[in-house]
Amino acid sequence: MTSGHRAPINLLLSSLPAAELQRLRPFLKPVLLRRNAVLVKPGDLGGLITFPCGGMVSVLAVTGDGDAVEILTVGKEGYLGTISLLGLGTSPYELTATIGGPALQIQTQAFRTALKHAPMLSEHLMTYSAATFAQVAQRVACTAWHSVEARCAFRLLAAQDCIGSDVLPLTQETIARLVGVRRPGVTMVARTLQRMGLITQARGRITIINRRGLEQVACECHSMIRERYSHLSWYRPRVWETRSASPPDLVALAPNLGIEASRPGTTQGIKRPRA
Ligand SMILES: [Zn+2]
Repeated sequence: MTSGHRAPINLLLSSLPAAELQRLRPFLKPVLLRRNAVLVKPGDLGGLITFPCGGMVSVLAVTGDGDAVEILTVGKEGYLGTISLLGLGTSPYELTATIGGPALQIQTQAFRTALKHAPMLSEHLMTYSAATFAQVAQRVACTAWHSVEARCAFRLLAAQDCIGSDVLPLTQETIARLVGVRRPGVTMVARTLQRMGLITQARGRITIINRRGLEQVACECHSMIRERYSHLSWYRPRVWETRSASPPDLVALAPNLGIEASRPGTTQGIKRPRA
């Protein structure tokens, strides 16, 4: 279920009291995060605070050999830039817009200043941090103990929740990088899921046609993470959006998003000898 003609929004921001939102609004700059754009590489200074309004940004742990695995998915329910916000120096992670989409960005100092007068925003950031820690912890267990098939199904469901669409603009190479396996492993799983009637594949995209079935293939990590995120009052994954109309308190922050494009990134090869 897509957001249709509604203006792109960030749910965390739109949940704020009007006064706090008004204080932030002049400093929020609309950008378009292109697919596979690398926002931050390991070793970069954190830079801007980013609030996705669509698409999906992946936080990736990358080894010295260039192998990667996604440790955190961030969509319109969250934000990126904790390292920068806390003044912790360079980023140990890579931030990549795995699925492109609009976003709002704000300079770190302006955000810090606004935070001093925004108690609800401060509270939301702390609540969100707890949810993201739970996601990272669950993914560690997932990578160690769950099958490639279950992990692939989990990632597809997470992507569907994140962008609110059955059609996922994801290549097998990208999925392999998210799951932390070689591409042939993903190819085998994708064929199996297609034979089971759960997905279809076309060039550069995967369509989920049987979510219930895919949930049965996925490990419990998907539902466990979603349960932790249910503590976020503003969180609305895809499965909930299909049950109700658009929430009444959503605020269109920047109806003309997409003016400025971030620099395009590169898709790295998959080298990790697993699967
Ligand atoms: Zn798992």
